[in-house]
Amino acid sequence: MRSTTHCLLIENIKDLRYWQEGSQAGCKLALVPTMGALHQGHMRLINQAVKECDKVIVSIFVNPLQFGPNEDFERYPRTLDKDLELCSQAGVTAVFHPSLEEMYPGTTSSMVVPPESLTDRLCGKFRPGHFSGVATVVLKLFNLVRPQKAYLGEKDFQQLTIIKKMVKDLNVPVEIVSVPIAREKDGLACSSRNAYLTFNQRQAAPALYKTLCRISLCLQQGHMSLAQALDSGGKELSVMPGLKLQYLEACNPTTLEPLMEAKYPLVLLVAAKLGEVRLIDNLIVART
Ligand code: AMP
Repeated sequence: MRSTTHCLLIENIKDLRYWQEGSQAGCKLALVPTMGALHQGHMRLINQAVKECDKVIVSIFVNPLQFGPNEDFERYPRTLDKDLELCSQAGVTAVFHPSLEEMYPGTTSSMVVPPESLTDRLCGKFRPGHFSGVATVVLKLFNLVRPQKAYLGEKDFQQLTIIKKMVKDLNVPVEIVSVPIAREKDGLACSSRNAYLTFNQRQAAPALYKTLCRISLCLQQGHMSLAQALDSGGKELSVMPGLKLQYLEACNPTTLEPLMEAKYPLVLLVAAKLGEVRLIDNLIVART
């Protein structure tokens, strides 16, 4: 355990337990789970947690269980020193940064299996096993840190829905606080993976959000059905050079069931690859 400028760096479970037991009495503890390479999206979660709770612990762990064999686990950006600096400046109490061996000793791990109805679609279709890996590490973090509140971003809408469902179904004693998406000035949702984009890809990337906004506007103006608006949005994205659309759907925001006709509130969800970089975004449409 070492102290950086202001916040404590905890690198193993024994130290975490020690810290957890010594500093908990009567205070409201928040957890912000991340994979690091912190950006404005993460900072929005962290700032809200600092405002609402007495102590905030940010976990930084690139979780191998949620990466497929051909995904970017090895090259995922790791910027611990900068992350610690940002956490200290934001008033975070401690950063939990365990090693792989610390989190997954041995060669096997029990896994959380969320309901298939939530995992076999949208991102789950393109990333088999991903949400089981996410749910497993998040449950481990909840059990280790035992926070009263956990702050998760709406950017990963399917993940948020699955974690909420896990907490409810398994009676995990934590309150999930969902935080709206932080965006760059041109609308692109902040993401650690944006750093992979070439100049031209970065110019093209805001198209995802623009398309979601256009669909939302069409629905609100009432001159297109949901199917027509999705179809037109899908066509718009499909003709963009270098962009490979994976899905563009409207869903019930609680169950993620796909909607054939507009029923509010609904969530528009999109995923596309720009070259090798996979981007996701979503927009909640409250009502027309
Ligand atoms: P990650 O480090 O990508 O695992 O993300 C950690 C947390 O930050 C997750 O709850 C994400 O949903 C959230 N997050 C990532 N990007 C954003 C964003 N642009 N706006 C809001 N939350 C975000």
